[in-house]
This record gives sequence, structure tokens and C-alpha cells, in this order.
Amino acid sequence: MSNQYNIAVLPGDGIGPEITAPCLEIMNKVLDCVGGVELHYETLRAGAAAYLNQGSALSDETLERAKQADAILLAAMGLPDVRYPDGTEIVPQIELREKLNLFAGVRPVRSIQGAPVTLANPKAHHLDFVIVRESTEGLFAARRNGVIEDDSIAKDTMEITRDTSERLFDFSFKFTQKRKRKGKPGVLTCVDKANVLPSMAFFRKIFNERAARFPDVEANHAYVDAAALNMVRCPWIFDVMVTENMYGDILSDLGAGLIGGMGMAPSADIGDEYAVFQPCHGSAPDIMGTGKANPTAMILSGAMLLEWLGDQRQDENCLKASAIIYNAVDQAFGSGELLSCELGGSSGTKEISERISSELVPMA
Ligand code: ATP
Repeated sequence: MSNQYNIAVLPGDGIGPEITAPCLEIMNKVLDCVGGVELHYETLRAGAAAYLNQGSALSDETLERAKQADAILLAAMGLPDVRYPDGTEIVPQIELREKLNLFAGVRPVRSIQGAPVTLANPKAHHLDFVIVRESTEGLFAARRNGVIEDDSIAKDTMEITRDTSERLFDFSFKFTQKRKRKGKPGVLTCVDKANVLPSMAFFRKIFNERAARFPDVEANHAYVDAAALNMVRCPWIFDVMVTENMYGDILSDLGAGLIGGMGMAPSADIGDEYAVFQPCHGSAPDIMGTGKANPTAMILSGAMLLEWLGDQRQDENCLKASAIIYNAVDQAFGSGELLSCELGGSSGTKEISERISSELVPMA
């Protein structure tokens, strides 16, 4: 008897559908190999094309069906020239985070052996830290409450709530504990600007309050400017970082830059009830249809989905499948023969996917 899970799949726009197809093939192949788990996919429409075709980027029906699923896999959404009448971009992935209360954006920065890294120091080949980005409020709340007065002054408000911050920090401490059990340092760094902004001093205060509940985790702080400097100078000092939405948005792109670009960086947006898995990058319309899109971030997002399902449902087979995908990605790039187009190489969607697929082997 297999465990069955329903996965809502939102391929979205641009390169989204191109990287979704190999990701699903790889997930199916690995689950055939492991056995005991069946995934049922329901493809849902959302994004810029959905807005053009049906007048809504994220319809109520799509949202409801996504909520029914056991997990949500999203590729990329938005196109630069498809905008709302007020000129803002179509970003249903942000709406999804807000509507499903996905407060914890998990952005791993893990170097893949054999893939080029940006920094010269040999330690840069062994990065393995995680940014947890609050994903429902912070400065992004200004999407809802920003104002421009009399064409003379604009105000965007940083919104930090006690309720979300407590949940974010508890999630981050537990996440750090889990990594510690697997041999990682067990250090959680609160990244803020508590020396300047009252909202950030409040954020840090709540962090310190929650830290007292997790004495086995070493809790420390960094100002966001110093954190950015150290992510370039010595990123190997970090284990888990937790920060507000906008700082996390910026730092996670910087993190992706350290490990070979946007095409290598997966992510998960996790709440108490729902979880969405998607690559950190956008729809990359500049390379859409060229076959140049790197599918690795999407495939690793599939691995994160399986890992999350495995943890949530105590399903060892999902955990095994996830580990096999991580290993296959490492083996594929470890050969040193793959260099993605975004880094000036010629390995595109097909070559990278096939190589990863060929490395899917059961692990001891
Ligand atoms: P968003 O704001 O939606 O996150 P963005 O405007 O930051 O998106 P992306 O769509 O992520 O931009 O693209 C940024 C650059 O990275 C583009 O030049 C794009 O071609 C490249 N890029 C993004 N994803 C990939 C990928 N998977 N493979 C190769 N190149 C990519």
C-alpha cells in the first residue's frame, strides 16, 4: 500500500513550464525507484498568462484547489510587460504567501560540488547555511499600506507583528535544532537593523524572548549591513539566519550569487498549514523558449517538498527520495562537465535534467 499525496503544480510563466516538466519527471522517477509513495499532480493556472486569459492572476478557484493539496509546487510567475492597471507587477506568488500565511521563507545557500562558486576561498565550495526570510509582512507590507502624498512624499511602512515574529523565530529555532542533530553548528543569527529602526528593535526583542526557550541553540545578532558584508567576505561563518521580508529578499539573492546563480537556488515558503516550494528565481523571460534555463533550483525545490512531506507525515520513503535527488544533483555537477548557460557555459535545461536523472540511484 503506497502513501498517496496530492501536489498542486503551478508552472506559471516564462521558463516556469520548461523547468516544471523535468522536475516532475525526476520526482516520478525517484519515487518509482524508492516505492511506497505516489504523487498525484494537479496543474493549476496562475500568473501573468492566467491574468491575461481569465482576468485573474490567482483565481479563488486556483487558491482553493491549492489549499486542498498536501503541498504546492510553483515554478515562476510574472512577465515584465503584463502589469496591473496601476503599473505594479503581477506577483501571485507573493499573494499566495500572504493568503496561506507562509511566514517562513526557507532559502538554503548550499554549494553544489563541481558547480562554480563566486568566491576564490576554497571554503566557498562547502557553504551550507540557510536564510529564513519572513514572507508575509515586514517592508513588503507596504504593498498594502504604502502611500504617496501630494506627489511630494512617499511612505512605506515596515510592519512587524508579535504574533508572526514569535512563529517565525520558533520555526527558526526548531529548524536550527534539527540541523544541529545532523551535525551542523546550531547557531541562529537574527539579522536586523535594531540600531536604527524601532520596528527592528522590536523584532530583536522578540527574538531574544524566544531564544530563552531554546537554550541548546546559540542565538546571536547581526545588523543587516554587516551581515551582507560577511556573506561576501566569509559566508562560511553562518549556520541559520532569520530576518524580515525585504532584507531576506535581498540577502537570499546574494546567497544565490555565492553558489552559482539563481538557477541553483531552491526555496520553500512554509506556514502552519500549507507549504509552497519554488526556485528563488523569477520567470526569466529573457531566456524563455531558448532551452537555456537551468532546472536545478526547481529540481531541488522538488527535493525540499519531498523532505518536508517526509518530516510532516513521518514518511521515510519521501525522505529517502529527497536524499536521492540531492545526491544526484551533487553527482551530476560533481563530474565538472556541466556549466549552466547563466554562468557562460552551454549546459541547458535538457542536458542538466538528463544528467541529474541519470544519477538517481538508491543510496545505502
Ligand atoms: P523576480 O523579481 O520575479 O524574482 P527577477 O526580475 O529578479 O525575477 P529573474 O527572472 O529571476 O529576475 O531573472 C534574473 C536573471 O537571472 C535573468 O537574466 C535570467 O535569465 C536569469 N535566470 C533566472 N533564472 C534562471 C534559470 N533557472 N536559469 C538560467 N538563468 C536564470
